[in-house]
Amino acid sequence: MQQGFPPLPAPLDCAEILDRLSIALALVDEATGRFARVNQAFVASFGQPAETFQAWWATVHRDPDAVDVLCGDWTQRLAMGSQENIESDMHGADGQVRHIRTQIQSHAGHLLLCFVDLTDNDNRQDLLRQALAEMETRSTTDPLTGLLTRRRLEEASASEMHRFRRFGHPISLIIADIDHFKMVNDAFGHLVGDEVLVEFALRLASECRDLDVIGRYGGEEFVILLPSTPLAGGFTLANKLRLAICSTPFDAVGPVSASFGIAECLEGDSWHSWLSRADKALYQAKADGRNRVVAAPGSAFDEHSLKHRNRLDRLTWEEGHCVGDPVIDAQHRQLFVLANRLLYIVREAGPPAELHATIRELSQATTRHFRDEEAILKALGYPRCDQHAKAHRILTAKLDGLSSQSALGSLPTSKLIEFLAYDLVDHHALGADRDFIPWLRVGARNDTPPTVN
Ligand code: GH3
Ligand code: MG
Ligand code: MG
Repeated sequence: MQQGFPPLPAPLDCAEILDRLSIALALVDEATGRFARVNQAFVASFGQPAETFQAWWATVHRDPDAVDVLCGDWTQRLAMGSQENIESDMHGADGQVRHIRTQIQSHAGHLLLCFVDLTDNDNRQDLLRQALAEMETRSTTDPLTGLLTRRRLEEASASEMHRFRRFGHPISLIIADIDHFKMVNDAFGHLVGDEVLVEFALRLASECRDLDVIGRYGGEEFVILLPSTPLAGGFTLANKLRLAICSTPFDAVGPVSASFGIAECLEGDSWHSWLSRADKALYQAKADGRNRVVAAPGSAFDEHSLKHRNRLDRLTWEEGHCVGDPVIDAQHRQLFVLANRLLYIVREAGPPAELHATIRELSQATTRHFRDEEAILKALGYPRCDQHAKAHRILTAKLDGLSSQSALGSLPTSKLIEFLAYDLVDHHALGADRDFIPWLRVGARNDTPPTVN
């Protein structure tokens, strides 16, 4: 086995080789703290240093925290054989700020310093992240109405259907189609038609719950996914939507109506069979004279199963629930513990003061968790950060509302269970939070971000 490098053959000179390398290098005498040697790349980046290494370090940094890094016992740590890696913003000879990783090692009474410029890498990563975020928005948001695109709807339906299969929670789907929209275009022109589509989308959105997923499926056809909603509840909502459209004339064209088909997801349904049952119901609504709601037959959620759903005892944590980040996973586990404590108090009809105190504790843990999770996702460059933060704000507001109701002693048990089991744990921790797993994996490998398709 070869021990170290053999001597360099003449006329190669080690110092000359180091001078030719494009990476900035320096050698500092540990006894005096003065630079013993710097290479050309160092001079090109930072100029010729006249002072001691520590004084020079203070002049190239404006950030006092970065200056403080080289205080205390850092030389002792180095003397014990460790290597320091410091990332900081340094002012170069050209006045530009560069993001540099400084590696420092101690060897034979000298500090060996190597300065790796990460600026270009950072810029490239930033541009890549920006481009990904833009692509993400374009492929997931319909530019006219701001609703989700067909593709994003289909992605959302896949995770909803997964939850349905795994936990048996009901989901329904509404298809809405504007009646005689071709006539609107013919009479008022395409641009006015577009205005109608925008107002139509706004009216749908303002009647739906925060957790409902609304998308523009095609020209004047809209699809709404309704999590935790059996057929009967979806039918009521579809009728509310129908009235929201037909009861007030549209600014640009006067009265408009729409027809609605609704179907609950059934055992054995694929996305296509589920959608086509809703589409068939829509077709029936058109055939029956338009401006009406028709439901596709079939619901697994009668009164009996809904009562059973509200008797949920506890939530079980499984290793498969982990997303792969130790902070997020520990906090999710803690939310499960608190949610189970609440379910226990509810089941045993514990004292209201205890119920209220535990809701408050859950509320604080949730706020802390959301704050930490958002910081982690932001640092990872996760492109759906804003949407995720919005979902957090909605849940926080809901939890605040439950907390005030519980303080007043007017909180129905079923509402609390619905929130814990469906909104916070099932829908968010086991649903929305699975969306960023690929970004966490990439972050752990310090790789390029995953592509958004
Ligand atoms: P029905 O009541 O049977 O649904 O009749 P309809 O006229 O609404 O249905 P049809 O499918 O015959 O026509 C749909 C029309 O929607 C035709 C098309 O020009 C219009 N459309 C589709 N996309 C857009 C769009 O983005 N903007 C505008 N202004 N019109 C659109
Ligand atoms: Mg139509
Ligand atoms: Mg149509």
